[in-house]
Amino acid sequence: MPIHVYECDACACRFEALVRGDREPAGCTECGSPQIERMISPFAITRREVDQIRDLDPKYKQMVDDLIASTPDAEPMRHLDRLTSFDEVDDPGDPIEF
Ligand SMILES: [Zn+2]
Repeated sequence: MPIHVYECDACACRFEALVRGDREPAGCTECGSPQIERMISPFAITRREVDQIRDLDPKYKQMVDDLIASTPDAEPMRHLDRLTSFDEVDDPGDPIEF
């Protein structure tokens, strides 16, 4: 049983309704006006976008890997390479109390 979102032409409120078959809601839940219009369900849009992301995922992942490989500055671990161990510095500073 799908949930549809409706908008009332009279008072502009939006409401959700469970719809069995072709049985549309009788009217607006706020003002009772029969002038209501079914909106595109946000659930339907979300599911479609998730499917698109899922379809693109392997290609996108490969694209990101290729870009990281060709851009050394984008390598996520590059900051670790720049760190100097405490043994190698003259003044390691005061210990930090946690
Ligand atoms: Zn209304």
